[in-house]
Amino acid sequence: MTTAATATKSVLNESRQIERAAMLIRMGARMQVLESETTLSYERLIRLYKEIAGKSPSKGQLPFSTDWFLTWQENIHSSLFLNIYEYLAKGVSIDSVEQLTKAYRLYTEQIEAAGLEALLSFTRAWRLVKFVDANMLTRTKCSECGGLFVTEPYENARHYQCGLCNPPARAGKSKSAGALQLH
Ligand SMILES: [Zn+2]
Repeated sequence: MTTAATATKSVLNESRQIERAAMLIRMGARMQVLESETTLSYERLIRLYKEIAGKSPSKGQLPFSTDWFLTWQENIHSSLFLNIYEYLAKGVSIDSVEQLTKAYRLYTEQIEAAGLEALLSFTRAWRLVKFVDANMLTRTKCSECGGLFVTEPYENARHYQCGLCNPPARAGKSKSAGALQLH
């Protein structure tokens, strides 16, 4: 390749990376997500973040534990998102960031249509996908309703019951707006 061609290629690649980062920032992604999903430098990402979000990115690391995704209401939200995410990849090749943002949009649409509050943030959704990729979380079929839910990999599928079929005793007692109510 000529020098000019190489230069053009790198400019194009960079603009694609900026586009990708901008889309992620608009979705509410935190710095960890941007660093992982683009090739732009940290300084570059900080500048871009401030420009698009109009504020500095929040500091602090995300928790590295899978617990959040396994607690009752959070688990139902996580499962809904992951089912959409996996569905989108069926039979088509799709860019991983595109798949994530598309699935997240569909998840929030469904949640809002049901009059609920979206418990799963975009960054958490990204984290969930990472946990699944690392085989730290998976989906298990509920033995009652047959739905797929986020579980630990060694969950016993024969006896597994999801949080809707077998809600914890405290379920439905939450008065907070947007919480899941069981009737
Ligand atoms: Zn169930």
